[in-house]
Amino acid sequence: MKNEIEQITTPYVQANDIDGSEPVTPIILVETANFSSWLALRSNDEQAWLNRQAFTAQPGQWAWLGNDQATSIIAGWNGQKDIATLGGLPLRLPPGLYQLTETVSDLQLIGWGLGAYQFNRYKTAKRSAARLVMPPANNTSSILNHVEAISLTRDLINTSAQDMAPSHLQAEIQALADLFGADCDVIEGDALLDNNCGAIHAVGRAATDGPRLIDLQWGHADHPKVTLVGKGVTFDSGGLNLKPASGMRTMKKDMGGAATAIGLAYLIMAEALPIRLRLLVPAAENAIAGNAFRPGDVVHTHKGLTVEIDNTDAEGRLLLCDALSIACEDEPELIFDYATLTGSARSAVGAEVAAMFSNDTALANAIHTCGQIQDDPVWHMPLHQEYSYMLESKVADLVNSAASPYAGAVTAALFLQKFIGTQKWMHFDIMAFNVRARPGRPEGGEALALRAVYAYLKDTYDPV
Ligand SMILES: [Zn+2]
Repeated sequence: MKNEIEQITTPYVQANDIDGSEPVTPIILVETANFSSWLALRSNDEQAWLNRQAFTAQPGQWAWLGNDQATSIIAGWNGQKDIATLGGLPLRLPPGLYQLTETVSDLQLIGWGLGAYQFNRYKTAKRSAARLVMPPANNTSSILNHVEAISLTRDLINTSAQDMAPSHLQAEIQALADLFGADCDVIEGDALLDNNCGAIHAVGRAATDGPRLIDLQWGHADHPKVTLVGKGVTFDSGGLNLKPASGMRTMKKDMGGAATAIGLAYLIMAEALPIRLRLLVPAAENAIAGNAFRPGDVVHTHKGLTVEIDNTDAEGRLLLCDALSIACEDEPELIFDYATLTGSARSAVGAEVAAMFSNDTALANAIHTCGQIQDDPVWHMPLHQEYSYMLESKVADLVNSAASPYAGAVTAALFLQKFIGTQKWMHFDIMAFNVRARPGRPEGGEALALRAVYAYLKDTYDPV
């Protein structure tokens, strides 16, 4: 099996690759609010024809217009320049070649690519996506790179845990390093103990495919350092605090934070942002065996803090705490971590918004704005220090899971903050999975807060 990076294809055609062998159908976008005035300018025949198709230019609605010689597609939209404008079309229009009749934004074109996504690893797709002629005025390479990055994230999440164990995740990151000429180091198995990563080791040691810390570094040494960290729990049984069937069913996605960080790293390197990038992925399967870590055990973290295990299902923060303290050692300007960390964050903001925590309010405000512009919503949550009391242990420096049923996403973030120094840091607690299909956002693995952070890095380090 090839790695995921080599399999990505995108549903666009370059304008100069059109040779006339295939008809190109124009797509006319009409805003719902402007539909009546638009319709009034059409011929009686066209009005009657659209009426027969009950077309009212609702978002996602489309209809045929014209005759055999000059057939067009008319598509409704809500006037927002977002992912949904074109995201519903590639798998609803008949397969073929299409061309927009008016200018759209890069983000809207990214939506076309994201809406064409299908996960084909285990099942042949029922149909191919419609293809769009890329308008020459848009930034083709940036659009393609965004679609490829997010498709990569989705593929990694959607892949079954049997094929996305820690060693597979390592192979994907190694392939990424090979593609862009980056360095990739791995600390694996008992070597984690030699490197004082007792928390990563504890989480993953019961699995056949052992725990590891994967460390990719790319870019010029004198560029500003930005470090991404992603939680790579390739399957989360809960450990000895076993999850119920309903909670375990989707746990192949518990490496969604790693997948998002990998997708973002792909985009940064493909776009050649002038930063010194580091990607740290602690990867482990939270499995059960005789050597599994137990409630009441105390693990020794890389930072030197001891952590009493209250619950083996709060394992993500254990992986992250070692990776974050290593991330701080070379003093990057920014650290972003992504993790499918708590059900509490899902209760707070649901599956479609990334819960965001940061020790820097200006950074949080800027990322929030980028999220709005990029149709990639994030919401700023409080690092309410008063709640640190919930992390106190009677036998160790910290406990890994608070006994209280309240503010679970906040106490998880506070736990992580104990392993951060003075660096600017942002933590995303994400679902990494669409529980319903929307235009441009199919059900399944999803990259949340990827475009928002990329846009911020681009604005900060490589402004146009
Ligand atoms: Zn867990």
